Order: sequence, then structure tokens, then C-alpha cells
Amino acid sequence: MRLQGKVILITGAASGIGRSSAILFASEGAKVIVNDLSEEKGEETAAEIRAAGGEAVYMKADVTDPASVSPMVDEILKQFGHIDVLFNNAGISGVGALHEIEPDMWDRVVNVNIRGVYVPSKYVLPHMMERKSGSIINMSSCIAEIGLGKRAVYAATKGAVLSLTKSMQVDYAPYNIRVNALLPGTILTPFVEKYLRESYDNPEEAYEGLKKRQLSGDLGRPEDVAKAALFLASDESKFMMGSPLYIDGGVTSG
Ligand code: NAD
Repeated sequence: MRLQGKVILITGAASGIGRSSAILFASEGAKVIVNDLSEEKGEETAAEIRAAGGEAVYMKADVTDPASVSPMVDEILKQFGHIDVLFNNAGISGVGALHEIEPDMWDRVVNVNIRGVYVPSKYVLPHMMERKSGSIINMSSCIAEIGLGKRAVYAATKGAVLSLTKSMQVDYAPYNIRVNALLPGTILTPFVEKYLRESYDNPEEAYEGLKKRQLSGDLGRPEDVAKAALFLASDESKFMMGSPLYIDGGVTSG
């Protein structure tokens, strides 16, 4: 068991990569807090883990809202006593070249994808600092490095998450807290399915086009990213600090 007894908070864990990570982490012995805005899907994920013999609870909170995240962190500490790992996974997309993006969409994507890393970290960090132990995993994207047409605001936020990760690492290394980033390529999740449906007249053709962009010849699956997150959550990655970890089917090399 690679995460035996570890208490792990995953944001946006009711769907896609977060959900897959919650299931994998619990199967490796972690006590998982499934956070998400979606109560129905969050409860479903936690119940599925418990039915398989794992330990998980759903906790509702909006990652952008201190008034919602702070009591959640207090509740986790009350129920579980400590937090070993924070996986800042929640994120949303925003489609459009820069001039096509309306200000409210810009603000929404920036809010969830950047503030949504800042707020949970702000409330979990003092506790990790006191214990002098912790691992934080921030969800960036390979788009932070290579960019992508019609995804200006999304790319900007994922670049910001990468630089935030490095700055956080410098500040919290003295407290034995590791902060690393995941940079997935295109992973077939509800997030990508929605993007294909909303952005293309022929989503099937667009999917085939996306596959051709990967050196791997296909998109990744949520489990592919969950396995990398497991590595960063576990002590096996103890010498990784402020590092970007690519899980991208070769797209940044192609
Ligand atoms: P997804 O849409 O399947 O899941 C995201 C979850 O986050 C949803 O359940 C949603 O309800 C939740 N969420 C959104 N806003 C929230 C908020 N304010 N508070 C709490 N929860 C909130 O998405 P996914 O594809 O699994 O993506 C997960 C993360 O991985 C995102 O940060 C995304 O940007 C990143 N990512 C995805 C891909 C990909 O190709 N799928 C690639 C690179 C990076």
C-alpha cells in the first residue's frame, strides 16, 4: 500500500482525473476527501470507494470561496486529525481566441483555475507547516508550455499554476512541504468531451484530429494521470520539489 493511512484532499474529485485519483488513492490505503461542487456525483464517488472497501467522504466546497473552503479544512482536521496531501485538481475550460473571450468568461476561468489553487492551499498550508510535512499537487497542463489555439485564457491560467507551484516550493521547502505540478496532455474526460461537443460541428472528426497530435496515437485516460498523481502523493517522489511532471503522450515533444 503506497499511501497507507495518508489523509488526502482532492478538489474537483467527482469527475474525470480527480475521481479516478480518488479511487486509485483509496485502493492504496489513503483516506480520501472527495471535494467537489457537485453533491450528487461527489457522494456517488465516495460511496463507490466505500463499497470497494476503501475510506472516503464527500465534502462540498467551492474552491474559489474562502468562506466555503476554510470550514471544510476545519472539518477534515476534526474528522481525520491531519492532512498529508492536497491535490488541487478542480479546473474549468474556456474556449476562444483572446478577442473572442468575454470578460465574464475570462474572470470565471481565472477564478477557478488560479484562485482555486490559492484558496485551498492557503487554508491547508498552516497546518502542514505546523507538522513540518506535506505534499501539494497542483494541476497545470502541457498547454502551459506549448499553448493551444482557441484556449487563450485556459493556457494563461495553467502557465500561472506552474509558476505558482515553483514559488510555493521555494517558500515551503523549509517546512518539508513538497509542491509539484502535473502537466497532462489531452485526457479523455467529461471536460474534453464537452469541449469537443461545444467547439466542433463534427466532434468525432475533431477527436480523430486530436489523436493524430499525440505521439502515442491516442488521448490519455484519467487513470494515466491518476498514476502520476499517486507518485507525487507518495513518499516515492520525495526528491521532487517544484517539478513539472508531464503525462502527455509525447505531445510536448511532437
Ligand atoms: P472534469 O470536468 O471531468 O472534472 C473537474 C471537476 O471539478 C468537476 O467535477 C467539477 O464539478 C469540479 N469543479 C469545477 N469548479 C469547481 C469549484 N469551483 N469548486 C469545486 N469543484 C469544482 O475535468 P478533468 O478533465 O478531470 O480535469 C481536471 C483538471 O485537470 C482540471 O484542472 C483541468 O484543467 C486539468 N487538465 C485536464 C486535461 C484534460 O485533457 N482533461 C488536460 C490537462 C489538464
